[in-house]
Amino acid sequence: MSLEQTGGSVFGEWSGRAAHGFVDRHIGTTSDDQAAMLAVVGHDSVESLVRAAVPDSIHAASGAESTIPAPIGEKEALAELRSLADRNRASRTLLGLGYYDTVTPAVIQRNVLENPSWYTAYTPYQPEISQGRLEALINFQTMVAELTGLTTANASMLDEGTAVVEGMLLARRASKATSDAFVVDSDAFPQTKALLAGRAAAVGIRLVELDLASTDPAELPESFGLFVQYPAATGSVRDLEPLVAASHAHGGLVVVAADLLALTLLRAPGEFGADVAVGTSQRFGVPMGFGGPHAGYMAVRTGLERQLPGRLVGVSQDADGQPAYRLSLQTREQHIRREKATSNICTAQVLLAVMASMYAVYHGPWGLRHIASRVHGHTADLAAALADSDLEIENDTFFDTLQVFASGRAEALVSAARERGFLIHLVDADCFRLSFDETTTHDDVVAVAEVLGLELPAGDSPSGLPDDLLRTSDYLTHPVFRTHRSETSMMRYLKHLADKDYALDRGMIPLGSCTMKLNAATEMAAVTWPEFAAVHPFAPADDVAGYLDLIGQLEGWLAEVTGYDTVSLQPNAGSQGELAGLLAIRGYHLANGDADRTVCLIPQSAHGTNAASAVLAGMRVVVVACDERGNVDLDDLRARVAANASELAALMITYPSTHGVYEHDIRDITDAVHEAGGQVYVDGANLNALLGFARFGEFGGDVSHLNLHKTFCIPHGGGGPGVGPVAAKAHLAPYLPGHPMAQQADRRTGAAPAAAGERLAHAGVPVSSAPYGSPSILPISWAYVRMMGSEGLAQATGAAVLAANYVAVRLRDHYPVLYAGEGGLVAHECILDLRPLRDATGVTVDDVAKRLVDYGFHSPTMSFPVAGTLMVEPTESEDLAEIDRFVDAMIAIRAEAEQVASGRFAVEASPLRGAPHTAESVISGEWSHDYTRDEAVYPVRSLVRGKYWPPVRRIDQAWGDRNLFCACPPVEAFA
Ligand SMILES: *Cc1c(COP(=O)(O)O)cnc(C)c1O
Repeated sequence: MSLEQTGGSVFGEWSGRAAHGFVDRHIGTTSDDQAAMLAVVGHDSVESLVRAAVPDSIHAASGAESTIPAPIGEKEALAELRSLADRNRASRTLLGLGYYDTVTPAVIQRNVLENPSWYTAYTPYQPEISQGRLEALINFQTMVAELTGLTTANASMLDEGTAVVEGMLLARRASKATSDAFVVDSDAFPQTKALLAGRAAAVGIRLVELDLASTDPAELPESFGLFVQYPAATGSVRDLEPLVAASHAHGGLVVVAADLLALTLLRAPGEFGADVAVGTSQRFGVPMGFGGPHAGYMAVRTGLERQLPGRLVGVSQDADGQPAYRLSLQTREQHIRREKATSNICTAQVLLAVMASMYAVYHGPWGLRHIASRVHGHTADLAAALADSDLEIENDTFFDTLQVFASGRAEALVSAARERGFLIHLVDADCFRLSFDETTTHDDVVAVAEVLGLELPAGDSPSGLPDDLLRTSDYLTHPVFRTHRSETSMMRYLKHLADKDYALDRGMIPLGSCTMKLNAATEMAAVTWPEFAAVHPFAPADDVAGYLDLIGQLEGWLAEVTGYDTVSLQPNAGSQGELAGLLAIRGYHLANGDADRTVCLIPQSAHGTNAASAVLAGMRVVVVACDERGNVDLDDLRARVAANASELAALMITYPSTHGVYEHDIRDITDAVHEAGGQVYVDGANLNALLGFARFGEFGGDVSHLNLHKTFCIPHGGGGPGVGPVAAKAHLAPYLPGHPMAQQADRRTGAAPAAAGERLAHAGVPVSSAPYGSPSILPISWAYVRMMGSEGLAQATGAAVLAANYVAVRLRDHYPVLYAGEGGLVAHECILDLRPLRDATGVTVDDVAKRLVDYGFHSPTMSFPVAGTLMVEPTESEDLAEIDRFVDAMIAIRAEAEQVASGRFAVEASPLRGAPHTAESVISGEWSHDYTRDEAVYPVRSLVRGKYWPPVRRIDQAWGDRNLFCACPPVEAFA
């Protein structure tokens, strides 16, 4: 836009909305654009549109002064973040406990973590335009499977502790044993044990904690499974084979949490009979980030692959018979299985899994082994020094961790170490524990020895690894792990993969229910600052003062915009927020003596995670019908409430509904549930349609989760990370997730209720391994709110609702818009019904989605929440030109479908069914189609100058599921 076009004054005319620069950068449409769009939609102003769309009964109460400060610019926001960062201290961390300092190779930091081609991508549900990240994920799966010695690994878990929980649940499903007991080795990480305790209680599993090191395997109690940490939390490396055999003997499955770096030197779990291996890939180049995000992992032996939770990438073939990657066995996923789901994982940790896999690609098997040997060597040196002293090592075998008996001196030694800048884990007054990592230097070891009053002996120190547990098998044998040694090669490999994918840096991703909005560069900037990145989750409170402030501020702002009293940022995804909220409801009912309240009402239209989370919280799901307009059927709801009144625990309702409309009866609905003694859970993943206009807590919600990776700008990362804060009314606060090791006393499991004037305590069981979940990505959402201010947030909502209604109006003559609320208006997304088109022409929703790729778009959400539909969510960040380009593409596709109807070509021979078209498909061989090459790849002329070329043709999903293969294919497959 030239100066003339803006009417002379760049700032005056250009903004017209707010005096602050960032709001205008975040919102894609200018005031002129919005005026034009309003004319199409038939409203005078954005305000009047939103007021008309959002039911009167829920409009936010005005009056109270906002606690969200007035917005500031990008430079100022970075300066505030800098001052928060300066109040954190990135000490030399020897705390271990599953978190280790690591070196993120700069080539990976710059080209993956800081590269929008990777971090703005969506979950690879459209595999033809996701081949790059799917390849990276299959590398991750291959790496995990080979290191653990098991056959199949999934594409990431949320963290180690929740992966152990999922392992326990898997063992219960797969075991034929009738016992309700699960045995847990006492020598496991404390946070993992806390997670297991809370989650087992919710689903009626009896945990039996035993010191397995001193248990005779023959005396092992009956159980459906057993969990053991390898190496153990105290550092020792034990032969687990006899235990595994003993557990198998009575039908149990064995879950081993294994350290991937240690596995480069140690016998793999699969080699001693483990059924399931879980853990974290954090120390493969992913910063600790005060707890996350990092990719957890899970691998299973043959026969259990169909039981795996989470996503599984596999190899299939495309329409030309070429190998191509896609997500396998998607029918296992909770979206489809709902209350029959066995796991609620949806958003996982893709970006971090990509980083960890690339760390293995870059270092190769020799590099990893070298790093592990160095870590072990440092540990052995200190162990040798300790052996000559009056301090006593408690573990006679070790990889990287030593537990030391210091008879009454432990506290003094730990604080002396702290003086020297080292954080050591104090076990008790007599005992401390320390772990070395990739960043440990010889000088560090000398310094630690000095603190302990020791001198390192000269010469080689004896190994702590038992001879009979040394690894003899090979790993990472695929060429991908042995090719990209140089930085040039690595950089090009990353670019090669990124080029195959369609992310927000190419164009619009109009995915309904996913809110693919801008992830601003300024918001992302602080994530990799060492004061945020290199911080251990169990660092002392004084080391994390800046973090705790940032977290407290964000919690407060989120509480205000949702109308709740308190917020926990611990849940690592929306699904985990749901679980935390439902566990809070469970805790509340139990505390009131209402142990029978276990029924959770969930409307038919709900997101699949809702039902899955309810099951994991130990509730029974009762489905409520929806009417023909997509609203909850109030009569059916009343009937279900009445039928279950004494057992009613909760209603879980999404607002605005997953159908993209504002339900007008919402207050009647929440009242009906409350009258029967139930609690109301409002799924807040769609908050982008309400922010600034209505608050869940004011229209009957007791608890909600939000998705910071949707509404609050955390990028999707190709399928994670996410943050799913849970927000609640005061009466549920005591049951919100606490953590045994939280830095703040009022965030500890079992914390005392708050005194008057203090903030509300969260005293429930944890839902994540780390006390504050994934803090290193919280600066993103913090910066968003800080730069938008409360008015800017409302403007974003307005722009998003306007964009959705504009799309609905422009497309409704071409595709029926399935649901609309009052005045024919939709919320922030709209559902296009493609079923009439299919009935008339045979053109399917798949055909349209794949054809959009030829037009340079990512498809909208397919067949959710209604089969045969597309759900479009443009968000506020797209500008009008891009929205129009999308609308025009959809209209052009409709015209192509007309040509099927008119008989120009059969649907099987149409460009719709042939989509997407690769370059190869239009240049090779004789062209025998009824449409031209030009029509195939340049259906609109603007594509000639800027074309996204999909690397593969349409992928055969069923073939891949029949021929399940989930590791890197041999190079010859691509010949
Ligand atoms: C995205 C979404 C969820 C799940 O969130 P995840 O972070 O993927 O676990 C739940 N409910 C609704 C309505 C959603 O759109």
